[in-house]
Amino acid sequence: MEIPFAEAWKIKMIEPIRKSSREEREKWLKDANYNVFQLKADQVYIDCLTDSGTGAMSDRQWAALMMGDESYAGARSFYELKDTITEITGFEFVIPTHQGRAAENVLFSYLVKAGDIVPGNSHFDTTKGHIESRKAFAVDCTVDIAKDTQLEAPFKGNVDIKKLEKVLSENADKIPFIIVTITNNTAGGQPVSMENLREVKKIADKYGKRVIFDSARFAENAYFIKMREEGYKDKTIKEICREMFSYADGMTMSAKKDGLVNMGGFIATRWEDWYEGAKAFVIPFEGYLTYGGMNGRDMAALAVGLKENTEFDMLETRIHQLEFLASLLDEYGIPYQRPVGGHAVFIDASKVLTKIPKEEFPAQTLTVELYKEAGIRGCEIGYILADRDPVTRENRFGGLDFVRLAIPRRTYTDNHMKVIAAALKNVYDRRNEITRGVEIVWEAELMRHFTVKLRPLS
Ligand SMILES: *Cc1c(COP(=O)(O)O)cnc(C)c1O
Repeated sequence: MEIPFAEAWKIKMIEPIRKSSREEREKWLKDANYNVFQLKADQVYIDCLTDSGTGAMSDRQWAALMMGDESYAGARSFYELKDTITEITGFEFVIPTHQGRAAENVLFSYLVKAGDIVPGNSHFDTTKGHIESRKAFAVDCTVDIAKDTQLEAPFKGNVDIKKLEKVLSENADKIPFIIVTITNNTAGGQPVSMENLREVKKIADKYGKRVIFDSARFAENAYFIKMREEGYKDKTIKEICREMFSYADGMTMSAKKDGLVNMGGFIATRWEDWYEGAKAFVIPFEGYLTYGGMNGRDMAALAVGLKENTEFDMLETRIHQLEFLASLLDEYGIPYQRPVGGHAVFIDASKVLTKIPKEEFPAQTLTVELYKEAGIRGCEIGYILADRDPVTRENRFGGLDFVRLAIPRRTYTDNHMKVIAAALKNVYDRRNEITRGVEIVWEAELMRHFTVKLRPLS
């Protein structure tokens, strides 16, 4: 008999979680204005809101916490972190920040001016927010196949090179840099191929532009390159990372994802001028250069996390769990962005709740139904998250309307995946009875999905 797959770790500490009744959940949802961000975590059974900062640290990371150096300036933990980042990316200059959006804030304060245009594959919402709040424009050059959720293709996160070249040729003087998100979160956690990164670099060079990687899930991206792209199957994850980053000039990082820590982020770059420019903003916004927004102990744990998560076994365990969940959805016929991405299953709500018009936010409605069904908290990555057009103030219905079920790293077992899939199946089976969605009662101007207040329509 073939020996089955199993996790590359065992469990040393557990955290109890609690089930609830449908009645309780209906009340809690109402109190939360039908926005699952406003639920208390104790009201959630399986929390797939995000994989950001929700993972489990290893015994080695917890041990590293105790060794953290809390010196204000020049802490040993900073140098441990910096050396690890340099080893993985080749970038010599490192600025810690309290999380990924803070890295964006610091670096973009230096690089982005009003009227600028920043092209990329698909901007993440905070990235878009930090560009648009500076009265600049984020232009998505997403490959068209990313929109076809049922098409199986290995690298649906790629930059559309023709679209990128068009933006560059028409607006070269307004472009401060190109940003490539690896993996492409907004397009469904889809990876970007090495070939594509190489092409972006070539075009960037042609127009004299620099390239930033929004690197939250760079290790998962490297795993997919190893498994899917010709010429990489015998390379280590660390070798693949080194090559990926050789095509970039700098990175912003949310360490809460592939850094395997609960809070943290950083900027890294090969260019001293960018480092010098960002320095002026990190001190007032975040903190001194050698801690940015982080505790010494957190930098120490992050250094260990980055090393662990650039090992093949750790990534294989994670992606295997995602593939297991996706295989159950296949069995039940539930449509999701194919193939499954690195950190989440993205349910294609427009193909599930076909009776609900886009103006009534199908993905948000499905998010609400899934919570009611079994206390599972997903996240709308769709028309609400897309915010309004900054000029016309119209809702942006041009993109996809997903419910994202993000899977925290090293946190849930495959049995939890079975619960998620069964709950989805139950909602799916009664999809034709769900005919009305939700309407917005109150919303913020930017990043509205976190705080939006909704009302169910009937
Ligand atoms: C999470 C994330 C960010 C922002 O990072 P935070 O740590 O949440 O501030 C930026 N880009 C991508 C692709 C992300 O996934």
